[in-house]
Amino acid sequence: MAKQAPSLMDTIVSLCKRRGFIFQASEIYGGIGNTYDYGPLGVELKRRVKDAWWSRTVTVRRDVVGLDSAILQNPRVWEVSGHVGGFSDPMIDCKTCKGRFRADHLDQLACPEKPSKHPGECHGELTEPRSFNLMFKTNLGPMEDSGSVAYLRPETAQGIFLNFANVLSSARIKPPFGIAQIGKSFRNEITPGNFVFRMREFEQAEMEFFVPPDENDQWYAYWRDERYRWYTDLGIRADKLRVREHDQKELAHYSTATCDIEYEYPFGWGELEGIACRTDFDLKRHSEASGTTLEYFDPQTKEHYTPYVIEPAGGIDRMALTFLVDAYEEEQLEKDTRVVLHFHPEIAPITVGVFPLVKKDGMPEKAMEVEEDLRRAGFATFYDEKGAIGRRYRRQDEVGTPWCITIDGNTLENDVVTIRDRDTMQQDKVQVAELRAYIDAAVRSWKR
Ligand code: ATP
Repeated sequence: MAKQAPSLMDTIVSLCKRRGFIFQASEIYGGIGNTYDYGPLGVELKRRVKDAWWSRTVTVRRDVVGLDSAILQNPRVWEVSGHVGGFSDPMIDCKTCKGRFRADHLDQLACPEKPSKHPGECHGELTEPRSFNLMFKTNLGPMEDSGSVAYLRPETAQGIFLNFANVLSSARIKPPFGIAQIGKSFRNEITPGNFVFRMREFEQAEMEFFVPPDENDQWYAYWRDERYRWYTDLGIRADKLRVREHDQKELAHYSTATCDIEYEYPFGWGELEGIACRTDFDLKRHSEASGTTLEYFDPQTKEHYTPYVIEPAGGIDRMALTFLVDAYEEEQLEKDTRVVLHFHPEIAPITVGVFPLVKKDGMPEKAMEVEEDLRRAGFATFYDEKGAIGRRYRRQDEVGTPWCITIDGNTLENDVVTIRDRDTMQQDKVQVAELRAYIDAAVRSWKR
């Protein structure tokens, strides 16, 4: 039988495992449904995604501050926010194959027994949809009774609403302003799948931007455009990215507008991030239920009001997957094919590879000295002295290292190194003393 070519997703999943980006969690025990561990390169990739998000959303802005709220909160929080009653997906079982599916995703899912068909099209008998709450329950303390029930947060946003008054009184800030947070969230997804696109434990980057109600529309447009630009500025191809405005039927009852930034993954278009107008819904609900007023007093107009909220909410794991998928290329060269990840240098887990041309004549010592110097200057480096130089370049191409430096006889004599560009494969000669400035400038001027 002819061997089928692996799909692009399969290829990326296998590259992630082989090169240490992402591993199946509990792999030696057979794994656990859609839970993943990030390996040495994956953890760096994710850290850079988080740094890039934080820097753009918080650090460079005067009007956004950060927060790190707890995963466990008072269970009342989730009753009041609507998650206990309403954070559920419609679930359908197949009586024939015992498969379990999300009723609203049937057209994207495959029958486990006849993968060319959607569930229900395969003559399997489906049950009516039942509502399934996505929150993970746990118990606080030694008693496992109803009084000790707590939930793992399904989103980070509520922790921000709970601290609205704390931040307002401590941070000397006034609307329009935002509170940003990155942290783990948990959802007992019915049909997880597509690698780290849909997991049960994942990281979110969310920001609640509090505005005077009459500025709602302008700030919604601002954050929708700003979040889209963040992706394209970091090299994501614009033709793979789109903004999809929700129609009236899709909108939450309290929302005036919501859109998704979608990416065209190998398995089709999928939500990467959502931008939602949440109006004053959450602050008002928590005000009423807790008895703590969550309002802003405007000293100029002498009026109290509840701000409206614009929320950009994205998943760090989906962002990391998007950077991986978008960067991946099998480039056809004259004699062979090379696999290259065209990461933006700010996203690449390793910035510079440093190699001695050969393992003798003092080249390894000089190469280690150059590498040490760059590492201490804050660059993410990788030292490699094994194998042919061409193969060492290719290994770095495959993990997206933008530049590789080779130390040769010329370095020992004249302090000049060869620096090779990942994308163009062109080589430049640079003085060791100029290396830092050269790489800094190359990072700043990088374009896809
Ligand atoms: P979906 O429709 O894909 O289930 P959602 O609309 O429920 O997503 P939100 O509640 O808006 O998602 O969460 C904000 C972001 O968090 C999403 O855009 C996505 O990037 C990320 N996210 C949500 N659920 C998951 C998950 N199970 N695994 C990984 N990331 C997720």
